[in-house]
Amino acid sequence: MNTIRIQLILDEAAEGRRLSLDEARLLQQEASLHDLGHAAHRVRLRKHPDPVVTYVVDRNINYSNVCVCACRFCAYYRAPGHDECFVLTHAEIGRKIEETIALGGTQILMQGGHHPDLPLSWYEDMLAFIKANYPIHVHAFSPPEIAHFARLSGLTTKQVIQRLRAAGLDSIPGGGAEILVDRVRTAVSPNKCPAGQWLGIMEEAHGLGLRTTATMMFGHEETLEERLEHLFAVRASQDRSLRNVGDGYTAFIPWTFQPDNTNIEARPLTSVEYLRLLALSRLVLDNVDNVQVSWVTMGPKIAQLALYFGGNDFGSTMIEENVVRAAGVSFRLSRGDIDALVRTAGFEPRQRRMDYRLVPADKTGEQA
Ligand code: SF4
Repeated sequence: MNTIRIQLILDEAAEGRRLSLDEARLLQQEASLHDLGHAAHRVRLRKHPDPVVTYVVDRNINYSNVCVCACRFCAYYRAPGHDECFVLTHAEIGRKIEETIALGGTQILMQGGHHPDLPLSWYEDMLAFIKANYPIHVHAFSPPEIAHFARLSGLTTKQVIQRLRAAGLDSIPGGGAEILVDRVRTAVSPNKCPAGQWLGIMEEAHGLGLRTTATMMFGHEETLEERLEHLFAVRASQDRSLRNVGDGYTAFIPWTFQPDNTNIEARPLTSVEYLRLLALSRLVLDNVDNVQVSWVTMGPKIAQLALYFGGNDFGSTMIEENVVRAAGVSFRLSRGDIDALVRTAGFEPRQRRMDYRLVPADKTGEQA
C-alpha cells in the first residue's frame, strides 16, 4: 500500500508539487534509495535542464581560531590564551587573497571563532582593507558570528549587518546552522545563537540586499525527525524572504558531521545515509534553486554520484580549508580535478560566482 503511495508522492514532487511534513517523513523512512534519487534528479533537471554542474573558485580564510563558544563538534577552535591561538594580519589576509586571484578565484569565504575581544571596527577595517586592495567577492560571517558581534557591540544584528555591508561585505555563508532545532543546538553548541535567531539574521540580510546560503551539518546528536524540522525551517524561511524581498538563499549545502578530534561520539554516516538526505533535501526544498554536493566530507566518488541524487553544484575548490581537516578529513581537489570529475560524471563543469551567474568560459578568473 505504502509503495504505491510513495511512488505517487515522488512523481508529484518531481513534477513540482510541494511535500507536506508527513509525506517527507514517509519518504525519509520508507522510500528506496534509488526511487528517492530518481525523483530528486528529475527535480534537478526540471530546475536546471542544461547538463551543467557549477562550482566556485574560492578560498576559505579563517581570520582567527580564537573562540569562546566551545561547540562540542568543533575540532578547530582554540580557547583564548591557548598557545595555538591566532588572528590574521592584513598582510597575511592580503597574501592569501593574491594567491586566490592568481588561481582564478572570484571570492573568499571568511569565517572565524567568536573572539571575545575584537571590536566590530576590527571586522570593518578588515573588510575595508580587502575592498580597497582586491577585486574579490567577500562571502563572510555566519549568523552566529553576527549575533556575537551584536552582543559585543550592543547593536542589533540588523545594525551589525548594515555596518559590515557598508564596509564591503557582499554575502553571508550559511555556516553555524548545524541543525536548526534548539534541543540539538543546546546539546551540541549551547553558546551559539538559537535556531530562530539564525533564520532571523539570514532574513535580515536578505532584506538588506545580501544573498546567503543555508547549510546543514547532520549525523551527530539529532534525530531523523529533527533533520526534517531543519529542512522545513529553511523552506519556510526562504518562503518569507521570497515573499518579502524576492531573493534569499542561493543554495542548500548539507554535509555530514566528522567526529575525529571532537567531543561527540558518533559513527560517521554512510554514503547511503548522505545520498538519501541529499535527495530528500532536493525534494523538500522546492524553493531553493541549487543543492551542493559535499566532496569535502564525502570524497570525490560519492560527490559524483550525488550529482544524480539532486545535486547540481560541486561547491568550491576550497584552495584552503581548515575546519573539516581539523576533524580528520582531508580530501583535496584542484580545479582540474573538479573539471575532470564533473565531466566523467556526464556533465559540463562551469565556474560560477556566489549568486550562480556563470563566469564566461573564456574569462574564468575574471573578478566578481
Ligand atoms: S564551530 Fe565556530 S563557534 Fe563553535 S567552537 Fe568552533 S569556531 Fe567556535
